[in-house]
Amino acid sequence: MTENNTPQVPETAPDPGKIKDHFDLFQEDTYQDIFEYKRQFEGAHSREKVAEVAEWTKTWDYREKNFEREALTINPAKACQPLGALFVASGFEGTLPYSHGSQGCVAYFRTHLTRNYKEPFQAVSSSMTEDAAVFGGLNNLKQGLQNSFELYKPKMIALCTTCMAEVIGDDLGAFITTAKQEGYIPEELPVPYAHTPSFVGSHITGYDNMLKSILSNLTAGKEKTETSNGKFNFNLGFDPYIGNIRELKRILGLFGIDYTILSDNSDTFDSPNTGEFKMYNGLTTLEETADSLNAEGTFFFQKYTTPKTQEYLAEAWDQKTYNFRPFGIKGTDEFLMALSAITGKAIPLELQQERGRAVDALTDSQAWIHGKSIALYGDPDHVFGITQFLLEMGAEPKHIVVTNSNNDFEAELREVLTNSPYGQEATIWGKKDLWHLRSLMFTEPVDLLIGNSYGKYLWRDTGTPLVRIGYPIFDRHHMHRYATLGYQGAINQFNWIINTVLDDLDHKTNVPAKTDISFDLIR
Ligand code: SF4
Repeated sequence: MTENNTPQVPETAPDPGKIKDHFDLFQEDTYQDIFEYKRQFEGAHSREKVAEVAEWTKTWDYREKNFEREALTINPAKACQPLGALFVASGFEGTLPYSHGSQGCVAYFRTHLTRNYKEPFQAVSSSMTEDAAVFGGLNNLKQGLQNSFELYKPKMIALCTTCMAEVIGDDLGAFITTAKQEGYIPEELPVPYAHTPSFVGSHITGYDNMLKSILSNLTAGKEKTETSNGKFNFNLGFDPYIGNIRELKRILGLFGIDYTILSDNSDTFDSPNTGEFKMYNGLTTLEETADSLNAEGTFFFQKYTTPKTQEYLAEAWDQKTYNFRPFGIKGTDEFLMALSAITGKAIPLELQQERGRAVDALTDSQAWIHGKSIALYGDPDHVFGITQFLLEMGAEPKHIVVTNSNNDFEAELREVLTNSPYGQEATIWGKKDLWHLRSLMFTEPVDLLIGNSYGKYLWRDTGTPLVRIGYPIFDRHHMHRYATLGYQGAINQFNWIINTVLDDLDHKTNVPAKTDISFDLIR
């Protein structure tokens, strides 16, 4: 500090060869002084007071107040509607996801996806500002569509809204018609659109709205053929694991089933580095999407992500829809047996052997997870799959937080929990957030936490080991490449869970001459 009590900034630039990373750099006195000065400048409470209040937030007294919250959400386990709309759109050939609203929204969506996948994500925006808020976003949209088409040459533009466009009441259907009539974009360019206000629903609602819109747009005016095209459609929902799409395709290849993946964005989020930039990596062609109308049926892996799409397929396409969650042993068994029965094809020997290996792997380590109490959170179908998997391993879900919950989901999950001896202690906390979960974990502690990267704050505060499964995973790399689906996915998830338990045990037993009586080499 200098005489007038302001922090001293180094006069000379540091040697570039000795630049420290921030976690070392910020521990130096210079920066510690700056932080202390900032505290004084902001009139922060004393450290003792902060510690006292922090302790109070761990009590039942605080929990009761926390659960009385009505008009405030803190760290919800969900994202905005348009994020899901852009996500699903990116799985189609030559498709440019377009967000009609302010620039900041699409910057957030691109960043969110890029941080999870460590891949660039292409999406554009109308970049609406104050004048559009007053006069409507038509001019922005016309200009935006024209620029997007001329600059990026998409085969399809998938258009969704953000809150701003919804609040002022922009009518996308009328705007697109006007833009086409006035020649901003070609009449024949498909522009499916979805109204995706984020003040209702979540990213899974946006996913559903956009998927339905793409399917209805690309099949508009088409008559169903008299005989089916012999294929089956598959949709994985808002599934962040691109390994799952590839695993599903491998399974279908083993069966010899002809298929269409409705939104195959596996290459969008994992494009090969060939030295050449490729703007579009969606693998589901527009032609096969249009022909998906003539498929034998459509399998959905996320029932609560796709209700409107499923209703549309059943009513407008008169097509059979099937819901399965091929996660864990039981979930995969059910899916494969149904797939075999529906297609008339035997379950391949290779998959039967994989099942045996997965059961063997679970049996080898199951004792470490049996009886462990678990807190978990995430999207409805995601949580459902993990809960079923935990129950079949004898783990005991205790706190299940689903911010974007609904009554049907809760009733279905409750039935599964009630029917298992390991589900008796579980409570489903619908529409609650991670700050609620923090109170739950302090007042009724658990052995393990399962969720996305935001759970690291709960890990830090409560000391509960965190298994990162879900979306987003910002602070660990490459997990999205693995499958969580099928028998192979069961082994992967089990690997993450069991080794987190064992890592935690090592941390708890590593004090020499004190706890290391159990610091075992062999576990
Ligand atoms: S909540 Fe609305 S305004 Fe905010 S980022 Fe999401 S879409 Fe944009």
